[in-house]
Amino acid sequence: MNTVRNINCAGKRVLLRADFNEPLIDGVVQDDARIRAVVPTIEFLLQQNPTSIKILTHLGRPEGRVVEALRTAPLAKALSKYVTDPRVEVLENVRFNPGEETNDKAFAQELAAQGDLFVNDAFADAHREHASIVGLPTLLPSFAGLLMEKEVEALTAALTPPPGSVAIVGGAKFETKIPLITRLLEHYDTVLLGGALGNDLIKARGMPFGASLVSAEPVPVEIAINQKLLMATDAYFGEEGKKIERVSTIADIRAHERIVDIGPITAGQWSERVSQAPFVVWNGPMGIYEDGFRAGTDALATALAQSQARAVVGGGDTIAALSKCSFDPARVFISTGGGAMLEFLANGTLPAIEALKNSKGTL
Ligand code: ADP
Ligand code: MG
Repeated sequence: MNTVRNINCAGKRVLLRADFNEPLIDGVVQDDARIRAVVPTIEFLLQQNPTSIKILTHLGRPEGRVVEALRTAPLAKALSKYVTDPRVEVLENVRFNPGEETNDKAFAQELAAQGDLFVNDAFADAHREHASIVGLPTLLPSFAGLLMEKEVEALTAALTPPPGSVAIVGGAKFETKIPLITRLLEHYDTVLLGGALGNDLIKARGMPFGASLVSAEPVPVEIAINQKLLMATDAYFGEEGKKIERVSTIADIRAHERIVDIGPITAGQWSERVSQAPFVVWNGPMGIYEDGFRAGTDALATALAQSQARAVVGGGDTIAALSKCSFDPARVFISTGGGAMLEFLANGTLPAIEALKNSKGTL
């Protein structure tokens, strides 16, 4: 992959794809982390004296038409806190055009006409085969931005962890995470499975799971029998319509109860493993985080923050849990990609990365 470190864009028009897809309330950006993450790339490019830097981003899901509430003006305003150079401009939401998500050639050409070179720093969208991600590199000399470079480096390291490393996967939809779990089992000595994914393993291993959320598809046998894969031994059980949950061993679950979080014994044992690991990769919550079942996820986040382990962490709930702790950012890398992180770990590459590698033009 060619990166912005290899170019000189003096006198050139730069098209920069970023992911500024930030939550807005009443037209105001609530959290500018994604915007801040691209500022180093913008500053790096500005030092080379380009004529313009036009930033492409999507915002929300306008589904191919103009949606007033999803215009990019609030994003430009949020960026102006960090970058005031008049050569930098945020273009309109790429998803206003139906050609973005279908990777339409004519739309990509329309975008390409506004630049002499393309820089992709939108790691969070690197798994999407959209015009502004994989179309542009077929039309312009193309380079990875500094954020893209950092993400790829961190996640590549996560695919060659030292012995004794621990992977933690939570959240839901087991069937979509089979390639990921298979890959992690090849590289990690321990894979801890929590959240609804853990329920699937509990079921596959013949334990009772009550009314817990499980996938329709069964866990493949070769995964279920893998001894590196660990599931919770105790859990918080919740019941429809009841406020109070109870904690007990998995075997003790009643038919109408559902697992809402890993239990304190499991959280303690898994925290211990995290504390002793040289490297940890983690994506996904251990419980129904948005409903307040956070104890398991928060316990692991605290253990990771206080450990010496190097780590790569991603996914909204997981980042939220870790953000409540103080840790050394040089040791723990927070990925800006949720889906992109999972897909990179499962496949070792992403459509955006392949597109940058295949981009022929030079400057
Ligand atoms: P993300 O939404 O961050 O991409 P996922 O979609 O894979 O991650 O998983 C998050 C979802 O997993 C959350 O909505 C959470 O409620 C759900 N989840 C976690 N643990 C459980 C559980 N024990 N039972 C049901 N759902 C769970
Ligand atoms: Mg999800």
